[in-house]
Amino acid sequence: MGAYVKPVILQNEDVSEGVFAASGSDGSCLSVTSWLDGQDGSGSYRIVFKVQHTGHQSYGQTIVATLSTSFTVVETDGTVSASVSGNTLTLVRNNQLNDTGLVELWVKVNAATQPTVLSVAATHCEH
Ligand SMILES: [Zn+2]
Repeated sequence: MGAYVKPVILQNEDVSEGVFAASGSDGSCLSVTSWLDGQDGSGSYRIVFKVQHTGHQSYGQTIVATLSTSFTVVETDGTVSASVSGNTLTLVRNNQLNDTGLVELWVKVNAATQPTVLSVAATHCEH
């Protein structure tokens, strides 16, 4: 038959939503505190990250911490993926956090000397 099929253009851009996503994606809606929470005697130290979120539903959070010494990641609590570059630890969590959400994450690292957390910040929030 060869009937003419009109091409369909899918419009999936939502401009207003895109602007909103850009406004808070820097992580300014997140506040993070971090502390050392014991060691297991084999050079492994547990670091806790308390992450507080306000303002809107979050679908993922990125946290960057700088430690006082180089280290390797031994284990995480399973909700984050951890990567290391020099003394910098990056945690990516792809779970939801409510508009007034609070979550505690932990990572176990191995270091030759006891590390301290020099700085910690949230760098990205997924809307
Ligand atoms: Zn957010």
